[in-house]
Amino acid sequence: MQYVPFGSHGFSVSRLGFGCMRLPTRKENGKDVIDREKAIAMIRHGIDSGISYVDTAYPYHGGESEIVVGLALKDGYRDKVRLTTKLPIWSVNEEKDMNRLLDEQLKKLDVPYVDFYLLHAMNKDRMDKMEAFHYQDFLKQAVKDGRIKHPGFSFHDDLDAFLRILHAYDWGMAQIQFNYLDDEEQAGLKGLREAGKCGVPLVIMEPLRGGALANPPENVRKLMEEYPRKRSAVEWAFAYIADFAEVATILSGMSTPEQLDDNLRIFDTLTVGGMTEADRAFAGQLKQAYLSRMPVKCTGCQYCQPCPQGVRIPDIFQGYNSAKMFDQPGRFLHNYQDKISQGCDASHCVQCGACEAACPQHLSIIDWLQQIDREYHAQAK
Ligand code: SF4
Ligand code: SF4
Repeated sequence: MQYVPFGSHGFSVSRLGFGCMRLPTRKENGKDVIDREKAIAMIRHGIDSGISYVDTAYPYHGGESEIVVGLALKDGYRDKVRLTTKLPIWSVNEEKDMNRLLDEQLKKLDVPYVDFYLLHAMNKDRMDKMEAFHYQDFLKQAVKDGRIKHPGFSFHDDLDAFLRILHAYDWGMAQIQFNYLDDEEQAGLKGLREAGKCGVPLVIMEPLRGGALANPPENVRKLMEEYPRKRSAVEWAFAYIADFAEVATILSGMSTPEQLDDNLRIFDTLTVGGMTEADRAFAGQLKQAYLSRMPVKCTGCQYCQPCPQGVRIPDIFQGYNSAKMFDQPGRFLHNYQDKISQGCDASHCVQCGACEAACPQHLSIIDWLQQIDREYHAQAK
């Protein structure tokens, strides 16, 4: 296992972090619950093998993740890791809820403090809400009374929102989505570099894009086979991220002992600067190979919204593109079922043309919507 300094906090962390949002599960009364025995054994095996960063959050596994992480960290394991959990901002309705939720989480984890407490899934609207609730006062007090060592935030929005939040407080860390496909999405490479300049260490989530980068389609796989340096699809995804000095830990949500052991093997070899210039250029080629599979060249700019009939055009195109890019039609089917049930699917288009007039990409939106609806509507119903 490789270790890197966690910013200027004076300690190092393992480059592989244990994300506890996809722990092994079993059925109980028809419901998925965490298989506690397996999950605890996996977390402890990970720590015994060198993992020193564990990440959980209030909503993971319907609230059960924090309890199971707390159990896994008994018998001396708590002292071997830096522990992170997150404030569920959507459950904060008044200022005092922040204290109440943190206390509830510490109780579930059965610990007196967490090393990192993140404002969960921050975006522009949630930043507005947190500012209205004086989040700085809450965080300062929780640090002062010892319940939190370092405040931070996790993030899902665009670069402008990231820069606003990054510069708004003296954060101990930030958690962002980053991988070779998303280097221009959300915080992206620019956000990563800016966090580095500000001395805010980064923890990376979605390194495999929800697992999609682990199972590349044929054209991407062929490129990997032809490249002189042999790495598996998972290794390419991790190696790309581990190359950045701004990145402290890379989270992986592991569900099986095999995934854990494969990750441990890979992270033994990953170093900052471990990609050659040719490797970095190749990661760019992999990205282009994925993007070449994107049928609708929609940038998600939202200029076509709102549609007078309520058709969620950018969401539909994004889901359809992802399904084609990753060769996973089932993922979009599920998504389209939701659109049908919400009444915002492509079948509601009355061909008024307002969206096409607004689209800076000059896309034939009506034709694409008809095609997508033909492909998916009957199956999705
Ligand atoms: S053409 Fe269809 S999708 Fe576009 S704005 Fe009109 S109704 Fe909405
Ligand atoms: S205006 Fe065009 S590019 Fe922008 S989200 Fe709508 S369809 Fe996509």
